Amino acid sequence: MKLTVIGTGSKGNAYLLENEEEALLIECGVNIKAIKQALDFNLRKLVGCIVSHEHGDHAKSIKELMEAGVNVYASAGTHKACGTTSNHRASMIMADVEYQLGNFKIRPFDVRHDAAQPLGFLINHSETGNVLFLTDTMYSPYTFRNLNNIIIEANYSHKVIRVKLQKMEFLKNRVMESHMSLDECINCLNANDLSQVNNIVLIHLSDGNSDEKLFKDEVTKATGKTVTVADNGLQMNFNKTPF
Ligand SMILES: [Zn+2]
Repeated sequence: MKLTVIGTGSKGNAYLLENEEEALLIECGVNIKAIKQALDFNLRKLVGCIVSHEHGDHAKSIKELMEAGVNVYASAGTHKACGTTSNHRASMIMADVEYQLGNFKIRPFDVRHDAAQPLGFLINHSETGNVLFLTDTMYSPYTFRNLNNIIIEANYSHKVIRVKLQKMEFLKNRVMESHMSLDECINCLNANDLSQVNNIVLIHLSDGNSDEKLFKDEVTKATGKTVTVADNGLQMNFNKTPF
C-alpha cells in the first residue's frame, strides 16, 4: 500500500491510500483537480472518500467528488453541515460501527473539535494492518489496540503559539481548544501500545505555529518509531512491516 499526501495543513487536507487495485481517499479539503491528478484521473479506483468533519480544509471538494461519482462517507452532522445529506452519493456513518469499502474496513469514532459531528477513523486493510487516522481534536478520547500505522495531527507547539499569538487571544484559544498540540500528540501516542507500529506520520502542522524538525525529533525521541512529517506531495510505503 502507498500513502500519498495530496495536501496537509490548514490550507487543505487529503490523503490517499492506494494499491494496484483500489484506493481510499481520506478527506477532500483540496481542489478536486489535485485529487484527480493524484489518482492519475482514474477516480473509479476510489472505493470512497471518508471525511472527518465539514471544515473547508477537510471537505472543500465534497460536492464535486459526489458529482464525479464518488461515494462520500461522513457523519450525519457533517453531511448536514456540508449541505450534502440528500445526495445519493452521501453515506451517513456512525461511531463504533464497522463499514466495508472495497477491501478497507472503516470504524469511525468520536473526536473533540468545534464541528457538528466530527469523527476519527480506524482503517483496516490486509496490507496496512490497523491504521489510526486522528486529526482536528483537542485530545484523543480513546486508546487503540493492535495499531500498525498511525496518521496523527501535531498542530502546534505551546512554546511557539504563546509567543506568536500572544496578542490574538481568540485565535490562540480556538487553536488550543480544537487542535492537538505536540505534547498532546505525544501523550496520545504513548497511551497506546506502539510495539507493532511501523510508521507514525505527523499531519496538519500549523504553518506558523509548528516546527517540522523539532516535531519529528520530539516524537521520534518519545516513541522510538519511524516518524515522517507529511508534506504536500509526499509518497511513502504504508504497509504493516517495512519489508
Ligand atoms: Zn477543523
